[in-house]
Amino acid sequence: MTIMKSDVQSKLTEENVQPVTLADIEQAAARIVGRVARTPLVRASTLSEYTGQSVHLKLETCQPVGAFKLRGAMNAILLLDDAARERGLVTASTGNHGRAVAYAARELGVPAIICMSSLVPANKIEAIRLLGAEIRIVGLSQDDAQEEVERLTKSRGLTPIPPFDHADVVAGQGTIGLEIVKNLPELATVLVPLSGGGLAGGVAVAVKALKPQARVIGISMKRGAAMHAAIAAGKPVAIREEETLADSLGGGIGLQNHVTFALCRDLLDDIILLSEDEITEGIRHAARNECVTVEGAGAVGIAAILADKAELSGPTAVIVSGGNIDPNIHQKIVEGTTL
Ligand SMILES: *Cc1c(COP(=O)(O)O)cnc(C)c1O
Repeated sequence: MTIMKSDVQSKLTEENVQPVTLADIEQAAARIVGRVARTPLVRASTLSEYTGQSVHLKLETCQPVGAFKLRGAMNAILLLDDAARERGLVTASTGNHGRAVAYAARELGVPAIICMSSLVPANKIEAIRLLGAEIRIVGLSQDDAQEEVERLTKSRGLTPIPPFDHADVVAGQGTIGLEIVKNLPELATVLVPLSGGGLAGGVAVAVKALKPQARVIGISMKRGAAMHAAIAAGKPVAIREEETLADSLGGGIGLQNHVTFALCRDLLDDIILLSEDEITEGIRHAARNECVTVEGAGAVGIAAILADKAELSGPTAVIVSGGNIDPNIHQKIVEGTTL
């Protein structure tokens, strides 16, 4: 799957997709500095011993909302003009993206509406309400909530902030790649959690531009790995959503994908798929050995190493993408009473 840069350029033009460049990511970094955390990259001694390579964890769990999504949301909102900021933002995510949009909007004094279906659990609704966003409950599914986003976009001129398939969001997520290369210049491999591909796509653009020899490997759960299925099929395909411990990695990549499909297809060196048991081990290891609380999606890089599925060839960065996990589930996993 390794493709030379010139091929990438021609493919991108051919499909008329929106490209994201190193310059976009560098500008994003300058734009969001001071508004998001520059997260620590810490050496993981047990994983380093286990693999014989020096393994480092990029702890996006340290972002104010507990996940990297703040980078992309902040960059996209900062790029809006005054009129758009005055009208406000809208999105349909109830997870880390919804939190990130709510947090960034409040920081920047921009009104935000988060649309959700009536099936969203009360604790998730409350978490977003506490961040100051207006909540709109509509219908019985995520699709109903997304339709409300489109209605509000048309009727009130609100700006939709999508969770991954948007060049400004991808550029924001790519700032993680810049920080990793700066802190670990001898980088050989990056392990990145992969769902819609905003994170993996942005990180791959930055890393491949600065360290063309470094490998960027995406990691998803076996249950509903949308990007993996799309790359195998040669185009975005509908997938069946299944329950998974890596809930932040669920959902499709969008049948009309404009940005992340081409980036992931052209820039990722490999994609690893994990079982639920393997993800559980990753969460447990992070808590017991690295002293970090990680959610399923955030644990997949660690899990891939423990499952001997990641071939490491030198200094390695593992992106620990988020820490928002139900505390009861986390406790059971760490105590080892569930697998
Ligand atoms: C959204 C998310 C991901 C996946 O990011 P994509 O850009 O959709 O691939 C991974 N981990 C966490 C914690 C997330 O919230």
